[in-house]
Amino acid sequence: MRFEDLIQAVGQPGASKEVALRVLRESREPANALKLFAAACEVRDRALGTKLWWSAGISAVLPCRVVPRCAYCTYFTAKSFPIEELVAGAKAIEQIGIRHLHLSGGTDLAGYDAEMIAMVTAIRAASDIEIEVNLGPSFSQDGVRQLKALGVRSVTSSLEVFNPEIFAKAKPGDSLEGRKRLVEICQEEQMSVRSMILIGLGETDQDRIDHLFYLKGFSRLYHLRFSRFQPYQTTAYRDHPRCSPWETARLIAVARLLMPEVDLGLAAGNSADDIPLWYSAGGGNQLLGAAISLREPKTAATPGEDIIQVTERVSLVSKMKQLERYVAGFGRSVGAQFPPL
Ligand code: SF4
Repeated sequence: MRFEDLIQAVGQPGASKEVALRVLRESREPANALKLFAAACEVRDRALGTKLWWSAGISAVLPCRVVPRCAYCTYFTAKSFPIEELVAGAKAIEQIGIRHLHLSGGTDLAGYDAEMIAMVTAIRAASDIEIEVNLGPSFSQDGVRQLKALGVRSVTSSLEVFNPEIFAKAKPGDSLEGRKRLVEICQEEQMSVRSMILIGLGETDQDRIDHLFYLKGFSRLYHLRFSRFQPYQTTAYRDHPRCSPWETARLIAVARLLMPEVDLGLAAGNSADDIPLWYSAGGGNQLLGAAISLREPKTAATPGEDIIQVTERVSLVSKMKQLERYVAGFGRSVGAQFPPL
């Protein structure tokens, strides 16, 4: 079968894993990848439109209680984000024109329902910014129901890697089954789901395709983000190879053909410089324009950033101007308006 015909076949309802795997493998060749990317962009523009939209993140809002810690991780925190400062952060994000916010991290397998409900309730009392939440597999079915009743837009359950042996090695204190169960709970409760794939932990192309097909089975999946493995010197994965952006871009393009209406984003291990390739491969349309973290408070801006001091300890780092320039460079624009679910 010609590569163009394989691309056509992956875009059909009921496409097989075998065809998707062939497209992923054969797109290693740049000439094929360019054909795949063109098809993926056409699907993205038709399904999601050409306008990008802003989101922002407040990370490490609760301590990560996973024991032992994931073997590659450097971004856990041991503290809770004080609620007053969290609310001030949400309002600061709103004031720079972003209407959409993620609260994320850490994880507690014993549950974080009450803590997250308290945070969402406090922000709700001060702001009508759209809220999404991500605490790993830390929510019960009742917690998801309560978050939905509070108007939370989505719950994230990041499977990270679909191969159980690789998951167990990289995340020995975490639970792949717990993460899968949370996706199922969201589906049962008709709560929108966001998920993430961490590419480059050692999984095969087949694992990646199995992962996409598993998620594709959930009609409430609305956003899938792609992390690109980055080794850190202080972790047990320090000698594990950095994942190439080529791996990420090609998997995004296959995902676009399999799930046309799902927002496909970039997550940890990617930077602003990955945006043009991401977009050219069919990624889109949400962009993270600003972030707040107590774990890494910033006092001095690096080029391309603006820092807004929110409270004595909390600063908001905006990359909106730089990202707007990058996006304008490929003829698109970014706005505050996000699509309905
Ligand atoms: S659950 Fe997340 S924050 Fe906690 S150790 Fe693992 S990767 Fe790090």
